Amino acid sequence: MTHDVVLIPGDGIGPEITSAMRRVVEATGVQINWNVQDAGAGVMGEYGTPLPEHVLEAVRATKVAIKGPITTPVGTGFRSVNVALRKEFDLYACVRPCLSQPGDGSRYRDIDLVIVRENTEDLYAGIEFDEGSPEVVELSKLVEASGQKPFAADSAISIKPISIARSRRIVEYAFEYARRCGRKKVTCVHKANIMKATDGLYLRIAREVAERYPDIEFNDKIVDATCMGLVQEPHDFDVLVCLNLYGDIVSDLCAGLVGGLGMAPGANIGADVAIFEPTHGSAPDIAGKDIANPTAEILSAAMLLDHLGETDAAERIRAAVRATLAEGSQVTGDVQRALTGSAEGAVGTQAYADAVIS
Ligand code: NAD
Repeated sequence: MTHDVVLIPGDGIGPEITSAMRRVVEATGVQINWNVQDAGAGVMGEYGTPLPEHVLEAVRATKVAIKGPITTPVGTGFRSVNVALRKEFDLYACVRPCLSQPGDGSRYRDIDLVIVRENTEDLYAGIEFDEGSPEVVELSKLVEASGQKPFAADSAISIKPISIARSRRIVEYAFEYARRCGRKKVTCVHKANIMKATDGLYLRIAREVAERYPDIEFNDKIVDATCMGLVQEPHDFDVLVCLNLYGDIVSDLCAGLVGGLGMAPGANIGADVAIFEPTHGSAPDIAGKDIANPTAEILSAAMLLDHLGETDAAERIRAAVRATLAEGSQVTGDVQRALTGSAEGAVGTQAYADAVIS
């Protein structure tokens, strides 16, 4: 059987790591018809948008895609293509497993945790108003009328919507995932002591949902304490269900526990469509040099293969990555540096992929 999959190489290190990933997937013998689509700053000139309609159309048709990272300009310019894709297809659950590998260069051992990040609301909804805009003036009047202390007149404002329905579906997803994957515990990560309305609602819903899953242990933890706990006692955690922004930050922290961003895969899951991508960004500092670690992209492809029902190929890829890292003589510079303090003797992106393939 041939699977139709959209491949969005992205920019920065995206093209290098996706080509390495593609070769690894092809080596498993699984037949994939890759529909390659470009998005990001590189297509702005031609289409007037970083996310052209024909790319969305292609994903709509195949319902499954894998992508490399796409650069988002900081502060000004177009909004994130990555966030736009998640919104367009209502990819509400971002699943990011962080698993120790032998030879990953981390000082932590036996890490095995999963972040389930809400992907559609929170401050990431992108509802923002610039300082001095009429909306800020209106909002300021509203705040004063509600009897609350007014904010500074030169403020910019971001809105943080957290809804009952979306809180419920992400927490349910986390519990269902825990059951399906034999996980023991779900931790709800929040800041409900300060944001009583938004995070308070989320925590209340999480507690309600947890009652329906007596077979899975449940606790909740404030996000700052979670970060310290992850650094000091990561083995206390199993599945972490996080609001969008906390999930973004905690994901990078957890990647750091298992060897760094080059190691951490991910999936964005919706009711109809799934898009697989690593946790990391486009890494412009190392782009075009054949030194990026493609492991996160390759392990994202293993998650894609699981999703397609090709679980044997997925497991073979994970085993090949594990064996290559454990053997240790053909690893990329980030891992080599973590292991020895210097990148000397490291291999390039494509040579590492060759080692995984062989
Ligand atoms: P980044 O994740 O790109 O890089 C952070 C650090 O990690 C850099 O030092 C980089 O060299 C290193 N790194 C990342 N991936 C690596 C890999 N595979 N191998 C070895 N080292 C790796 O974060 P950033 O620099 O903050 O962001 C760069 C751009 O990526 C920004 O425009 C950001 O918006 C975008 N971004 C995109 C996505 C996505 O496409 N889903 C996710 C995060 C960030």
